[in-house]
Amino acid sequence: MSAQHGDIARLAELAASASSIVALTGAGISVPSGIPDFRTPGTGIWENVDPMQVAHIDAFREDPARFWRFYGERFASLEGKQPNGAHEVLVELERAGVLDGVITQNVDMLHRTAGSRELIEMHGSIATCSCFGCGEVISLAAARSLLRSAPGGVPRCEACGESFRPDVVLFGEMLSQHAILRARALCERADLLLCIGSSLEVHPVAGLPLLTLSGGGEIAIITQGPTPLDEVASVRLSGDVVAEMRSLAAALAGAGAAA
Ligand code: ZN
Repeated sequence: MSAQHGDIARLAELAASASSIVALTGAGISVPSGIPDFRTPGTGIWENVDPMQVAHIDAFREDPARFWRFYGERFASLEGKQPNGAHEVLVELERAGVLDGVITQNVDMLHRTAGSRELIEMHGSIATCSCFGCGEVISLAAARSLLRSAPGGVPRCEACGESFRPDVVLFGEMLSQHAILRARALCERADLLLCIGSSLEVHPVAGLPLLTLSGGGEIAIITQGPTPLDEVASVRLSGDVVAEMRSLAAALAGAGAAA
């Protein structure tokens, strides 16, 4: 019996005895969908660009056209991307009443597209854009269409003339207080927190597993590459995220059939 199999069995055991399970996901869960993790050397989206120069709120204010040149490309690169097996397993677990919610650092909408219902998008999502002036909200498709015909390279509001911005949290901006409070509440009462595809380095998300631990719960880390919480995780899996999640689902189904 491989160590890997033992780890999956242990995780399935923890999951089967937990009354509240929550998932916390990061860029690694979207890599199998063809969305590069910006931390991966060579493939990262920030490899050839300084995020502070384009994805910072001050940079947006100073030069929205430069911002949109970068974001227009990023949106185009996300178009047509589909959720993968790891997103799907989380939806299955939620529908089976096993999973209480998903907290994600990703803005790519893949959890939504997959069908997750109790979903907290900590960094916002690319679903919509808002006008800086009057707050008018439009879809990403509408903003991209405005961008294509915008003479200055900036999609502008027809009502007030100000520029649209994507509803994602930019560098230099605060996360939504509402999202933080919901995420904290879920993590505090979780008996098991599945940390999937996150390097657990970006605050305040990186602090969420500590809330689960201090509430007496356990954490499992399913991520390639080290995290600062590896030592305190009850289970540590570092294989392909889709394979690991499918193994977990299979082990849980087996446990259910045996019970
Ligand atoms: Zn406006």
